Amino acid sequence: MSLFSPVELAPRDPILGLNEAFNADTRANKVNLGVGVYSDESGKVPLLRAVQAAEEARVAEHAARAYLPIDGLAPYDQAVQKLLFGADSTLLSSGRIITAQALGGTGALKLGADFLYRLTGKRTVAISNPSWENHRALFEAAGYDVVDYTYFDPATNGLNLSGMLADLEALAEGTVVILHACCHNPTGVDLSLADWAKVIDVVGRRQLVPFLDIAYQGFGENLEDDAVAVRLFAESGLPFLVASSFSKSFSLYGERVGALTMVTSSKEETAPVLSQLKRVIRTNYSNPPTHGAKVVAAVLTNPELYALWEDELAEMRDRIRDMRAALVQKLQAAGVEQDVSFIQRQRGMFSFSGLSKEQVARLADEFGIYAVGSGRICVAALNNSNIDAVAQAMAAVMKA
Ligand code: PLP
Repeated sequence: MSLFSPVELAPRDPILGLNEAFNADTRANKVNLGVGVYSDESGKVPLLRAVQAAEEARVAEHAARAYLPIDGLAPYDQAVQKLLFGADSTLLSSGRIITAQALGGTGALKLGADFLYRLTGKRTVAISNPSWENHRALFEAAGYDVVDYTYFDPATNGLNLSGMLADLEALAEGTVVILHACCHNPTGVDLSLADWAKVIDVVGRRQLVPFLDIAYQGFGENLEDDAVAVRLFAESGLPFLVASSFSKSFSLYGERVGALTMVTSSKEETAPVLSQLKRVIRTNYSNPPTHGAKVVAAVLTNPELYALWEDELAEMRDRIRDMRAALVQKLQAAGVEQDVSFIQRQRGMFSFSGLSKEQVARLADEFGIYAVGSGRICVAALNNSNIDAVAQAMAAVMKA
């Protein structure tokens, strides 16, 4: 038997499989709503002007390529903390925060998963139902048992708060709980301030381990309001973890710029935690890459570039909102009888459209419009050139 002969073909990643089917489709008016990236009005992933300016300055420096520290570029890590907790947060100087640059939000989740598993003995994680599909796979691969907690209510297309609280209440002490801080993927349904207070109360009483995932800061309301969950946890005094990402907010998907931040219970805990986190990093990939972190740090620490970035982020957010409003209006105009106004209330890049698996399959077969089987559509992939075709096709499968 050869070394590799026992290896079986892995199941196809559902989203990558969708991209393959989309690429193979020869229809001119095909639309890919399955992707998780923001496209501009012309259908392209944008290069932000703030990013371009920071890159040009960096190239002009002709900097040497030494290794970064294990936990990443210090000005980047500090800028991440300011963005998460607020520039005037007392936590920043408390000695209770550790931030390590990570390979995107995914890399941050994996560092946190490995850290908790190896160093605190955590073995069970709870994720929302539904959740970003990689949450389950990533934590299973890290050795965890993955359970889920109630989140989405199909009857209202909103949050099932009482179900969520009851499920959290029933979790065993020490269970890691993944919480989408804003712009929930895939539903676009978020918690209100009052809802977060209730969640924090249960998490604290039940001694659960909160692990916030914030991959879309700035895509909901604005940078400050979207960080409300992080800031409420910070105020609570509980220890917690945050996986954050600039993939979407800087349109830097391929540069892998994220961070893992851990808030400890006391500053005495910080040095041991940081030293062990560095071991986790060192034994995985040694140290992180330079380019994306340099660019993001340059933008976040330069007032003019920061202002430009905030404007560009607002442009992306507003364009998605306009597309939500237009989609609702066009579906109604096309004679859809169901109430679709929830599409406008959902936040972030996605809408959980309520389309069934069969309706999604019909969209692809009959109209060349590709969405995820769960009914998730990427609103950020709509534009004025494709929205009429999408609305007509959605209306056709919804009415039949
Ligand atoms: N967490 C959530 C909820 C996401 O939707 C994503 C990306 O789609 C990530 C994490 C990972 O982001 P990154 O591309 O930075 O690894």
